[in-house]
Amino acid sequence: MKKQVAIIISIFIAGIATAQDKNITIHSIEELKLYSTLWQQSAAEYRALCYQAFNTAKMRLDEIPKRKFRKQKLAIITDIDETIFDNSYQEAQLIKNNESWNMKSWLNWTNLSVATAVPGAVEFLQYAGKKGVSVFYVSNRGAEELKSTLINLKNLHFPNADSSHALFMTNEPSKETRRQEVMKNYDVVMLMGDNLNDFAQVFENKNISDRFTATDNAKDEWGNKFIVLPNATYGEWENVLFNYQHGLTGEQKLNMLRAALKTMPQ
Ligand SMILES: [Mg+2]
Repeated sequence: MKKQVAIIISIFIAGIATAQDKNITIHSIEELKLYSTLWQQSAAEYRALCYQAFNTAKMRLDEIPKRKFRKQKLAIITDIDETIFDNSYQEAQLIKNNESWNMKSWLNWTNLSVATAVPGAVEFLQYAGKKGVSVFYVSNRGAEELKSTLINLKNLHFPNADSSHALFMTNEPSKETRRQEVMKNYDVVMLMGDNLNDFAQVFENKNISDRFTATDNAKDEWGNKFIVLPNATYGEWENVLFNYQHGLTGEQKLNMLRAALKTMPQ
């Protein structure tokens, strides 16, 4: 009898859930980021992945004395956002406000200099600094964010938190020129990022399948010279889903996302 009641209740609850699902309305594309933002903020698995990335990075760095380099000076190039800074608070605020990403909100956020460190990032980069490896922050934050970002880096005790080690975006989003700039004087032993474009030019401006191929071609670099941090909320992968088109309506975006879903292996 109890089992029958439980089954009836289950069917009833399932019915309500289905009915409610049909009534879900998406107000902004940011709402779709609710789950990934909560994952970044609440899943211990996210923290574990970050520690895994930086533990791997440390092991690779310890191997360096065994290698031969052309130049005396060694460097690490790191991205900032969602690689060593956690900005999920800003995303959370956008979701709560039913607001789409916009530069004004972003600048208000970075101006506060209160991003927290991605777990393991400070310890790893301090370790690199103590080993004499310079850290260069190659970020697509703008020049107007330099001052507040350096304050944020300093407050979190990241090494080399000065303007000579911060190469921010000036006229192009590609980081290749800035990477080459560092490579003129340093042997870059490691690159860290949450976005393929943080690592090499070969990943830029590609569709999903070509990004997969480029990633497969570089498979020996992941966890070696390339250290990747998880970011399920935003990144180039998102621009690729929208075919790099800007100015799409929320409905257009939603339709493109649904169209990209695979319901069977291909
Ligand atoms: Mg980033």
